[in-house]
Amino acid sequence: MAVPKCKVSKARRDTRRSNNTKLEACGLVKCSNPECNEMNKPHRVCKVCGFYDGKKVLDVKA
Ligand SMILES: [Zn+2]
Repeated sequence: MAVPKCKVSKARRDTRRSNNTKLEACGLVKCSNPECNEMNKPHRVCKVCGFYDGKKVLDVKA
């Protein structure tokens, strides 16, 4: 059976747990288009206006 080689310090253990809870909490970011105000998933083109990183990259059928 595998046995841990070193004791994980409280700081390292707590950092690991806090990172996991952070991933669950965040899931949406505001659209980069100031006129859109839509909430989108990060690193994806906005479905409503076609903006990504402040630029229009996709023509959306209105
Ligand atoms: Zn948008």
